[in-house]
Amino acid sequence: MSDNRKITISSSLTAAHNAMRVMGRGSPALRPETIAVRAGAEIDPDTGALSPPLHLSTTFEHGPASEAIHGFRYAREKNPTQLRLEAALRDLEGGLAAVVFSSGMAAAAAVLQTLKPGSHVIFSDDIYIDVRNLARDFLPVWGIDSSIENLQDLDGLSRALRPSTKLIWIETPSNPLLKILDIQSLSLIARQAGALLLVDNTFATPILQRPLSLGADVVLHSTTKYCGGHSDVQGGCLIVKSQELLDKLLHVREILGAVASPFGSWLILRGLRSLPCRMERHSANGNAVAAALAACPSVQTVYYPGLPSHPGHHVARRQMKSFGAMLSFLVRGGREEALGVASRVKLFVNATSLGGVESLIEHRASNEGKLSRVPQNLLRVSVGLEHPDDLIEDLLQALA
Ligand SMILES: *Cc1c(COP(=O)(O)O)cnc(C)c1O
Repeated sequence: MSDNRKITISSSLTAAHNAMRVMGRGSPALRPETIAVRAGAEIDPDTGALSPPLHLSTTFEHGPASEAIHGFRYAREKNPTQLRLEAALRDLEGGLAAVVFSSGMAAAAAVLQTLKPGSHVIFSDDIYIDVRNLARDFLPVWGIDSSIENLQDLDGLSRALRPSTKLIWIETPSNPLLKILDIQSLSLIARQAGALLLVDNTFATPILQRPLSLGADVVLHSTTKYCGGHSDVQGGCLIVKSQELLDKLLHVREILGAVASPFGSWLILRGLRSLPCRMERHSANGNAVAAALAACPSVQTVYYPGLPSHPGHHVARRQMKSFGAMLSFLVRGGREEALGVASRVKLFVNATSLGGVESLIEHRASNEGKLSRVPQNLLRVSVGLEHPDDLIEDLLQALA
């Protein structure tokens, strides 16, 4: 490999750091599969280890006047394992930088904490329930206004904009209705209005969809889900394009303290190595399961953007590489019938969360509780990496 395909983690780091090379940035020729395997994977200069060393140290030797002679001082500011993960996420999404947090919700809160009192935020109408709860319970306390809009209606967005609108927050595909929003069109409207567009890209992952290249300003991931990929680590991240926002987010993270742990970062980085392979199989399985459900007489509706009947199918085709492995479906009948299906599955596990190797099923209205607006006969499925025929047989016997 030629030297110009290698780059340093960050020009602001010390010489010791600059010796640590990562691939990806400034090398558009590299494909996502290669970036996923190699970004942040520079060989440890001290030992030659290929697997990144896990630095648990909270404190690092500095100079007498607190000079960061090795590039680090205190783990809450930054630590070496976390920087490797950030390099990989940055390169996968094609941003200026990534900032990793202790959870997806910590990342979500950090963006909102960069806004000044008096700002206004627009959220799309089908978003992760706890982001909705964050907006309802905390934004008023912080002096920030918010509204929830159907952003499939672009004129509706234009009407909802205010001079104080600083951020438009979307999720596509959305949780749990798998709605598709047009990132490119929304980013043009946001830009004209002087607002940032944030895309929660958790369901798609950077392998299936790269919102920054479609005009978005910020990408959010719950790395707990597909990035980690094995249901064993909590994390979140933001990938940004602007230095100004990056500086604000680093300040929020350092002072409010929701940092990603070294071990958590290490596990998520390990998960990223196989993300492209996993997403290929996840998507193939998701397609197969969606088609089987759509053909089942006990199923009223399947929400999966890969189905040609899905209202967002055309936009999804344009902005996604494939359609992923999250889907929801309505069981004919009501709550009782849906709970009956969830109780009869043998292979699918009744559990919340998503994006792990194992297939999960969830009665989403029960999970979300009293305020949920999710239909009572809806089941959400995270299709895992088992053989699709085993998964389909399991669902069909539960639906019989
Ligand atoms: C899980 C999830 C979050 C929150 O992430 P945590 O890691 O659970 O804090 C945010 N957005 C989406 C779409 C999610 O699925």
